[in-house]
Formats: sequence, C-alpha cells, structure tokens
Amino acid sequence: FFQEVEQAPPDPILGVTEAFKKDSSPDKLNLGVGAYRTENLEPLVLDVVKKAEERIMSQNNNKEYLAVEGFAPFREVTARLLLGDDSKALKEKRVVTLQSLSGTGSLRIGAAFLAKFRAGTTVYISNPTWGNHFNIFGDAGLETAKYRYFDAKTIGLDFDGMVEDLSAAPAGSVVILHGCAHNPTGVDPTKEQWKKIAQLCKDKGLFPFFDVAYQGFASGSLEEDAWAPRHFADEMGLEIIVSQSYSKNLGLYGERVGALNAVVSSADEVPKVLSQWKRIARATYSNPPTHGARIVTEVVGDDALFSEWKKEMEEMSGRIINVRAALQKALESRMPEKDWTFITRQIGMFSYTGMTKEQVEHMWEKWHVYCTKDGRLSLAGLSLSRADYLADAMVDAINT
Ligand code: PMP
Repeated sequence: FFQEVEQAPPDPILGVTEAFKKDSSPDKLNLGVGAYRTENLEPLVLDVVKKAEERIMSQNNNKEYLAVEGFAPFREVTARLLLGDDSKALKEKRVVTLQSLSGTGSLRIGAAFLAKFRAGTTVYISNPTWGNHFNIFGDAGLETAKYRYFDAKTIGLDFDGMVEDLSAAPAGSVVILHGCAHNPTGVDPTKEQWKKIAQLCKDKGLFPFFDVAYQGFASGSLEEDAWAPRHFADEMGLEIIVSQSYSKNLGLYGERVGALNAVVSSADEVPKVLSQWKRIARATYSNPPTHGARIVTEVVGDDALFSEWKKEMEEMSGRIINVRAALQKALESRMPEKDWTFITRQIGMFSYTGMTKEQVEHMWEKWHVYCTKDGRLSLAGLSLSRADYLADAMVDAINT
C-alpha cells in the first residue's frame, strides 16, 4: 500500500528550523520562521495573554465542543477588530465570520470554498509570496498564477507590472493580497496604490482575497494595518474574503486561532455562505479549538487588556525596527558602496535581501546563520547584540 509513496520535498521555511536544530554551534542564529523572539532570542508569551489565561482559568470552563463556526464572542470581536467599529458592512450585517485554525486554516477553508463554488477560477498570487500560498490553493484543486510584485532593481513594489498582470487576468479571477507587511518582501502598496488596485478589481471583476497575518505588526497600529481591506469593503463597496491570524500579533502561534471573514453584498447571503463554510469545516476538522478563541475574546473584548495589548505590540514592532537600524548601520560600515536603506524601508518581520541561494548556503555552512533560500531574513529572530555578527556573515557571503 505504501510502497509507491515518494519522499515529499522539505518545507522551505520549516526545513530551516530543522537544520538549525541540528547545528550545535553556539553562534547559530535562526532567521527562518517568522516567530518573534525577545532581545535574548527567546520566545515571548505576552503579558496580556497570561492575564487572559488567568481569567479563563477562574471561569471554570468545561471542555465541550464549540459550534462548527466557532466561539460566538470571538467571532464578534475578531470581525470588529478587522473591519473597525465604524464598519458599514458590520452595521448592515453583511459580514460572515468563521473561527478557524489560524491563518493557514482559514485560507484553506476559503480555498475549498472557491474550489466548490467558483470551480475553474484562477487564483492570482504575488511573485514572490509566502511559500504556503501555492500549497494551500493548489492542494484545494485551484489553478494558480503569479502576478508581478517585487522589483529587484528598486527593492520596491513593481506597481506597473502588478497592474499590467492583474489587468490581463480574466474577469472572475481571484487575487490574493497581503493586507499588510507583505511576506517575504516587507514591501506594501501605498494608500494611493491600494486605491488603484481596488478600482482595478472593480473595473475588471476580480475578486479580492486578503491574507491579514500581521495586523498591528506592520505599522504598530491595528487601524493602519487593516486600511486596505476596509477601503475595499466600505469605501469601494467591494465584496471581499479576508483570512485573519493571531499567531504573530498576539503571539498565539501554537494555539491556532484565526478567522475567515467575508463581506458580502446583502445580509441574506450571510447565513447561506456561513452554512457552506461550516459544511467544509465540519468535514475538515469538525470544530475549532477553544483556548485561543477565549484568549482573543478576553484581550480584544476588554478595554484594559486591549490597550495593554497595543503597547506590547508596539514593543515587539519597535524592537524589530531597532534591529533593522542596527543591521543597516553594521552593513553600511562594512560595505559602504552598496545601498542598504531597504533594510529600514521594509516593514514587518522580514528583510528580503536579494541574496542568492549560494550566498544563503554559505551563511548556513560557514556562519551557522539560517534563513530561507530566497534570502529572506526573519528579523524577529535577531537581537541588537547579534546584528554585527549577521552583517559579517552577509558581507562574507556576498564577497565569496
Ligand atoms: N499568511 C502569511 C502571509 C503568513 O506569513 C503567515 C504566517 N507565516 C500566515 C498566513 C499564517 O500563519 P498561521 O497559520 O500561523 O496563522
């Protein structure tokens, strides 16, 4: 039965952690997976999460199953956090929300929904993108295509290329858009560019599917980081799907908490769409886990914890901004002939360096510095005290 099964290729991101774990050097650095580390390079459990957990413990909750669509108070607060207190769509009850297994799980339910109800559609994904997007939409049985996004020359957005590729996409195609802090490039459209993308979706009949994995982590503001999906839905009156994750902004990685949301055009569509998402979720994992949903509800639904959370998020994004500045300075002093300003221009957790696979492999082998082969560094895994070491490794790899 199993004889014909071949080895699957290693995951390009998780494979980095495996290699890191095997390395016994005291100098080793894991800049692979996008997981936040403190200045001592240790994982962080936010204080607000600990406080929320104390409250949850005192509630003496049972372990009954949640409804297939998830924890009702969670669904309410998560949609409000995403779309804003003034959201027209929420006021008009045109929002569908399903609690799901973090960002990945909600993307997958969204993908299965598209495969079922928009069979034959093509899903346009930015080039480059987070490695898992192609797995998720491809495994769900959808055709995928790439649109231009990154301009290696300017280390910025190839906006003209993006518009040209999306303009050529057939009407009815789905476009995956990173809501903020594009992974891996750290390059986002400006508000003016987002407005043009929204108009293009409207004019060409393209369907926007936002992946919001870093709300609050890109700019430090929950509002700013949700600007694009809010503009599409409320200002432009577009229907959208949005997947949401609490892995990064609340540090709930392993709790697997997130949501799939849709803004639809009329309130009568809400129960129908939800019923289909529930049908897919029921057959996939039956119902979502309780603990993370309770934590999010305590933090987002409580004024005091909510403001503490915002401060902690600013500390996390502030630490990464400081690390960026230190790394840029260290690189400028070692290789002044090259423009390194992209390091502080890019936002979010990552720096997309343009380093080649060979240069990355050199850093793995000689310097014990592990990052993905596309030259993406997770700066959330770097400390100020290791910035010089990383700069030495990068310069040596580039000069070799
Ligand atoms: N989308 C993007 C762009 C991401 O970077 C991530 C996390 N690396 C996710 C989705 C989903 O992560 P999770 O499933 O942990 O929420």
